[in-house]
Amino acid sequence: MKTIWDYPMGRGEFLRYGLAAAGWLLVGSAAVPGGSAAGQQTGKPGGPGESRTVKVYSVEKGGYIVADRVVKSDAEWRKILTPEQYQVTRKKGTERAFTGKYWNEHGTGVYRCVCCGNDLFSSGTQFDSGTGWPSFYAPVAPENVRTEEDNSFFSRRTEVLCSRCDSHLGHVFPDGPKPTGLRYCMNSASLDFVPVGPPPGDEGKGKKS
Ligand SMILES: [Zn+2]
Repeated sequence: MKTIWDYPMGRGEFLRYGLAAAGWLLVGSAAVPGGSAAGQQTGKPGGPGESRTVKVYSVEKGGYIVADRVVKSDAEWRKILTPEQYQVTRKKGTERAFTGKYWNEHGTGVYRCVCCGNDLFSSGTQFDSGTGWPSFYAPVAPENVRTEEDNSFFSRRTEVLCSRCDSHLGHVFPDGPKPTGLRYCMNSASLDFVPVGPPPGDEGKGKKS
């Protein structure tokens, strides 16, 4: 049984969302906020009739590619992931706020899926949410993630998963900044940051030719 503290949400935030969720329940709305960006992949990988490939955007290639879906057994995932990465990505866990590798990362680069290498988020859409989790207002492309309704805990949230390997990444909330108004609240443990350009702090030291 998971407790509310397993989820990427502070106490105040939980109260806020608890009230909001109660509001949605009262009006009987079936809409899930923030979870319906056009082009986002729905449907479970591995289901009947599910394609073995997925079209995703590659930052390196600067365009869409067709990639094989990544399906592994629990034992295989355990071999290649740290215990924390395994717990978060394969068991839908949540790292504690302000403890992850990237909540305060300010470098320029791409955040890839720690399980399969799929490009997920760019530093260009990252913002300081104050939550203690790395936060973005959009994925690199709608196709690179998929969303699912998460009704655990008498709250209605939208889970975000990697569209290539089904890794749990975090949740998306409708209180983000412009231009999307979305806040992708991610676990550092699900991400692998690949910096591009000079590391932070190197600016202004002169370019090496
Ligand atoms: Zn993945």
